[in-house]
Amino acid sequence: MLDPATRDALLERVRFYRDLGLTEFYRRPVDPALLAAEPNEPRESGAPSSPLFSAERVGDQETELTPVQSELPLPVPQPNFYAEEPAIPPRKPSPAPPQTAAAVPAADRAAALRIIREEIGDCTRCALHKGRNHLVFADGDPNARLMFVGEGPGADEDAQGLPFVGRAGQLLNNMIAAMGLRREQVYIANVVKCRPPGNRTPEPEEANTCSPFLFRQIDVVRPRVLVALGATAATYLLGHRQPLAGLRGRVHAFRGMQLIVTYHPAFLLRDPRQKKEAWADLQIAMRELGLKPPGRG
Ligand code: URA
Repeated sequence: MLDPATRDALLERVRFYRDLGLTEFYRRPVDPALLAAEPNEPRESGAPSSPLFSAERVGDQETELTPVQSELPLPVPQPNFYAEEPAIPPRKPSPAPPQTAAAVPAADRAAALRIIREEIGDCTRCALHKGRNHLVFADGDPNARLMFVGEGPGADEDAQGLPFVGRAGQLLNNMIAAMGLRREQVYIANVVKCRPPGNRTPEPEEANTCSPFLFRQIDVVRPRVLVALGATAATYLLGHRQPLAGLRGRVHAFRGMQLIVTYHPAFLLRDPRQKKEAWADLQIAMRELGLKPPGRG
């Protein structure tokens, strides 16, 4: 029998795979008496309990496994279901960044990041400082091979001082887990380090003031692959604004690293059907990193 925490984590994972479009799950035949002994799982929408908690593999093709159809409720369209991310005003030109920076030795990266954090200090360089509770610098491994860049902190991040710890963060954690990694193994930062009021898109003035610190963080961590989450991250990393559709699905050369652009998790929460597209982008990142999805050897 699964403990409640494992069961909830499995349910969350199965939901994520289902949202990616993987709706057929497989399990080895299980004694029905054992299944009957499972307590009812907590449901979000009163749907019947699912046998999927006993699923051992997801999307596996092994012949001895039995297909089981997901009983999870289908995603419910939201009113702004097809709304893309908010438009980004034209970017103020800034000097082109160098294509590559001198590598910081792996052993020195944590210290180099601390120096950047100290330099930022109790920042008042732009108006965003006025509403902040915590400046959100970054989270994760200074030697990560994979880095995610979001837009800016939301309410949860502002309260905790860490990026992606709210609902969008939970989805990002699931995306990372689906790639076969743990959150602690990647590095996560944002274009702006203070929460924009009402979670609005950062103004070009704010993003251009803050993003040089992000570039320095990137140059220290020097991940093999950088994933831009959403249009704001893509715009300020690439230095020009372009619709996300034209940027997704391929590898961009970026300061000697590989940059992949995908949807922001907050957008995926509004339009879960796009998770399949995001998964395709993450698979490009996985290919570049030589990663295989968990459970596939
Ligand atoms: N959205 C972002 O872009 N960044 C965060 O840290 C949280 C939500």
